[in-house]
Amino acid sequence: SMSKAGLCQKLTVPSELLDKTDVFIFDCDGVIWKGDTLIDGVPAVLEMLRAAGKKIFFVTNNSTKSRKGYLGKFKSLGLETVAAEEIFSSSFAAAAYLEQTKFKATGKKVYIIGEVGVQEELDLIGVPWIGGASDAGKKVELKSGYALPHDKDVGAVIVGFDREINYHKIQTAQLCINENPGCEFIATNLDAVTHLTDAQEWAGNGAMAGAIKGCTGREPTLVGKPSPLMVDYIVDKYGCDRARICMVGDRLDTDIVFGQSNGLLSCLTLSGVTSESKLLSADNPIKPDYYVDSIAQFK
Ligand code: PLP
Ligand code: CA
Repeated sequence: SMSKAGLCQKLTVPSELLDKTDVFIFDCDGVIWKGDTLIDGVPAVLEMLRAAGKKIFFVTNNSTKSRKGYLGKFKSLGLETVAAEEIFSSSFAAAAYLEQTKFKATGKKVYIIGEVGVQEELDLIGVPWIGGASDAGKKVELKSGYALPHDKDVGAVIVGFDREINYHKIQTAQLCINENPGCEFIATNLDAVTHLTDAQEWAGNGAMAGAIKGCTGREPTLVGKPSPLMVDYIVDKYGCDRARICMVGDRLDTDIVFGQSNGLLSCLTLSGVTSESKLLSADNPIKPDYYVDSIAQFK
């Protein structure tokens, strides 16, 4: 494996990292913004990196928005220079996986557990889907002899974060995966908990994917961090040298593992979910190359 623990140095001289890096991949929540609030100093740092000729990408495990939805979020936060092609959401990654595996040529459709982000990305690549928001609020009424019908033409189930998941959706996904020969099970991400508000931790897509794993016995194909899909896509399309790409994130088990298992430099920012004491604790085996209080320290 390309994985190796970093030295976990607090970055005090920004040029130490900037000189080693041609490409920055930024996680979003906890790095660029927290919820709907921009993190202090971010616009100036992005401007400085662009002026220095660095390539910039944004990789988020949150599948609830499409690439286009995130473009709107960047603009609404005043980050006007961000381009759609720089944004890699796990909803986009799910669609990219279907493109890579030539799913469209099968003529099959996708069953979605998830929100509008996944739906919009499948619409963009012209893959038909059912489920998603259209199955919100459905109830399964049990009576003798009743079978919930399911579509035999579903060739993949995509499971993304869904605040309207229900038993009807779980049973439909179970039937598609267990009864349709060759049906794939794709998870946008497996984050255990997430930070929908800053008042507590909230069940993440690990809950939705776990429900489907629990009733099918199948392991999902993961397309979000830490799977290699998004970094492979970036390297293939833009021809970057992995050793000169730095992954910057606030989570150890998604972002820093994503960087290390894919041969990238890694930098943890303390502006999100990981505290300095957790990072430095002897119980934590995941050590990035560098860490910063926030990316404002790059400047
Ligand atoms: N999934 C959901 C539903 C979220 O709300 C978030 C963060 O807000 C994430 C995943 C993690 O996103 P990121 O990879 O940008 O930290
Ligand atoms: Ca994050």
